[in-house]
Amino acid sequence: ESVSNMIAAGEVVENPASMIKELLENSLDAGSQMVSLEIKNGGRDVKIIDDGHGMNKEDLLLSVERHATSKISKKDDLYNLYTYGFRGEALSSIAAVSKISMSSKTKEENIGNYITVLGGKITNLKEIQRNIGTTIEIKDLFFNTPARLKFLRKAATEYGNIKDIIIQEALANPNIAITLILDGKVSIKTSGNGIENAIVEIFGKNVLKNVKSFDLGFLGNGTLYRSTKDSIFTFVNNRMVKSKIIENAIIDGYYTKLMKGKYPFAILFLNVDPKEVDVNVHPSKKIVKFSDEEEIYNFVLKKIESTFERDDN
Ligand code: ADP
Ligand code: MG
Repeated sequence: ESVSNMIAAGEVVENPASMIKELLENSLDAGSQMVSLEIKNGGRDVKIIDDGHGMNKEDLLLSVERHATSKISKKDDLYNLYTYGFRGEALSSIAAVSKISMSSKTKEENIGNYITVLGGKITNLKEIQRNIGTTIEIKDLFFNTPARLKFLRKAATEYGNIKDIIIQEALANPNIAITLILDGKVSIKTSGNGIENAIVEIFGKNVLKNVKSFDLGFLGNGTLYRSTKDSIFTFVNNRMVKSKIIENAIIDGYYTKLMKGKYPFAILFLNVDPKEVDVNVHPSKKIVKFSDEEEIYNFVLKKIESTFERDDN
């Protein structure tokens, strides 16, 4: 495998969670209604099954080549918040550092195709019977990059990070049925029946107690009332982001004597002109700044104040 591909792999495939995010976003980009993820071996073994539009033989072979993106038109808009894929290097990077098998079928074909890739090289190609959609199986992530392997955390930690990613994606895509299975046990399962169901399916049925739905999403003490900001989920143009200004607006707008240093449970969806958003991409989160932070702050604050009664006592 070329050095440049190995370097690229380090950037895209930082850890199992970041790899899984890329794979899931590919499935979502393919218009899937159902995505299922089976994870084992601390995130080194991953099977992802989707019912998206699939790939024909040519596209399947191409997909593991570097910069083979079918979404190239969006490439210049690097941090576009509307679409997931843009760089065409996720699959090739994953392929460079793992043992992959993939099968896929499109609706135009009667038969699907199956390939295996080892350390970036295609080792097998054959036709197979299968449904429309794509199945990707990754084994032994980082088998040929000992340094990276050494940095893997213990399974429980990797699984926690994976679960966080899936929760974010499931909330951002509440009309897609997403299942996460960790070591054979169902960890998350959404039905694809809307945001309210997704919240209950992810956090349990009590979470919506004391939570109100309003223009921007959901807000209240809930049962996730926490002393960290982890209970605040903000989505800008359907991507999970972190924004201090939005968090402040939530906290300021929803200040009650109940708070006592705790944070409410909030799920907010905002749509903003991508030109007005500056995204700082970290491995696990996107920190956003708005060109007019004050405007966003006031917008969120007003929405909250008009829904929730203030209690400053
Ligand atoms: P990108 O998503 O940036 O285009 P990737 O390396 O993630 O690049 O994927 C390469 C290409 O493989 C995609 O552009 C897409 O055409 C194809 N692909 C990957 N995963 C899937 C999938 N689950 N269903 C259909 N096509 C896929
Ligand atoms: Mg992609």
